Amino acid sequence: MGQTGASPATALEHFEDFLQGAAPRRITILGATGSIGRSTVDLIRRHPRAFEIEALTAQDNVVELAETARLLGARCAVIGNAAHYEALKRALAGTGVEVAAGPAAIVEAAQRPADMVVAAIVGAAGLEPSLAAIRCGTTIALANKETLVCAGALMMAEIERHGTTVLPVDSEHSAIFQVLDSLRMETVSRIILTASGGPFREFTREQLARVTPEQAVAHPNWSMGAKVSVDSATMMNKGLELIEAHHLFGLPESQIDVLVHPQSIIHSLVAHCDGSVLAQLGTPDMRTPIACALAWPSRMPTPVETLDLAAIGNLTFEAADPERFSALRLAREALQRGGAAPTILNAANEIAVGAFLAGRVAFLEIPGIVETVLDRLGSQDVTALDDITRVDREARSSATAEVARLAG
Ligand code: NAD
Ligand code: MG
Repeated sequence: MGQTGASPATALEHFEDFLQGAAPRRITILGATGSIGRSTVDLIRRHPRAFEIEALTAQDNVVELAETARLLGARCAVIGNAAHYEALKRALAGTGVEVAAGPAAIVEAAQRPADMVVAAIVGAAGLEPSLAAIRCGTTIALANKETLVCAGALMMAEIERHGTTVLPVDSEHSAIFQVLDSLRMETVSRIILTASGGPFREFTREQLARVTPEQAVAHPNWSMGAKVSVDSATMMNKGLELIEAHHLFGLPESQIDVLVHPQSIIHSLVAHCDGSVLAQLGTPDMRTPIACALAWPSRMPTPVETLDLAAIGNLTFEAADPERFSALRLAREALQRGGAAPTILNAANEIAVGAFLAGRVAFLEIPGIVETVLDRLGSQDVTALDDITRVDREARSSATAEVARLAG
């Protein structure tokens, strides 16, 4: 194949032309010290004329938060754990960076005027800040999938009401977003989420029973935070992504397939009524979907390795086995059941994964805990944020009790 597409230099010129005359994009990063947050910071540092930082938030890592705030000239830095307030203040003394602490301050950071909020907190803890940004009408680059699982209907209603733009960052959803003609959704017959199958795709049940947290966080293709790595290993990640895709693209569960593709080169596919299937491909590096959101509707150059299909040689596929990966089946059932079930699924999973990482329960007990809590709390209706936070709390305490019983 001959040379196609733009060289990095012309791509950069194109991106700068696109931005010409416009002020730099003002970005807030919620969860700036995590895996997605760091990749976002890495991209922004490469394009200092294109972006400015309004606010950065983190939960505990004061040192990295302060360093990043200095480096990027952030207007504001917020630490979620209020015990670290004085340390953050000291670390940023004399820099002019505003400093705040606590969960309410993270919500306020999300409300500060910005062109884009990158939602990269892990878990349902990101819900209130994301909702706050959505209600301000600020474009949201959404990595924090748990928020859509926990409160999808509410979030989508608020997005609609405030005319907010959502740009998916999860690689599968970014792939679908890139190939989907959202104005012609009626021609889409299915969306197909690809899954690597995680590090234990070929493990026997016996081997799965002995999996350690260290093994579970070492993903073969992607470098990610601990929670999402464990979710990838149990395949709950694909279950959460199924629910995420349902909300983002408005398709029923029955039209969303999961396909195991161990190389993680095809990030997802969209099938149309005429038999045409469109896919998005790339080297597995989250900086591509993040860049896609940061520069949207333009494109910006990234240091991501060029995809070399000849060197890769083969792309392989297999069906996802719902029995082997019961977490995926649980997520499908929760989405079918609706109401509070996805909120319960997410909260119980967060507790179960935390307990596994802390060495309190075994890998194979994670989906069992989620199923027990789903059975216990059954179907309830949820509409307002208050219902969601109540159900989330109940599911966490039920899952905590189940962990104590198992660890007993
Ligand atoms: P991570 O654990 O590496 O980082 C999480 C960030 O959130 C950190 O900055 C942390 O300080 C902050 N945080 C943690 N708990 C918080 C709390 N209670 N309140 C406020 N902030 C808190 O996680 P990650 O891997 O970067 O993932 C972030 C989100 O993106 C997750 O929802 C994950 O599912 C999603 N995602 C991640 C990847 C990936 O490659 N890492 C890919 C797709 C989607
Ligand atoms: Mg994903």
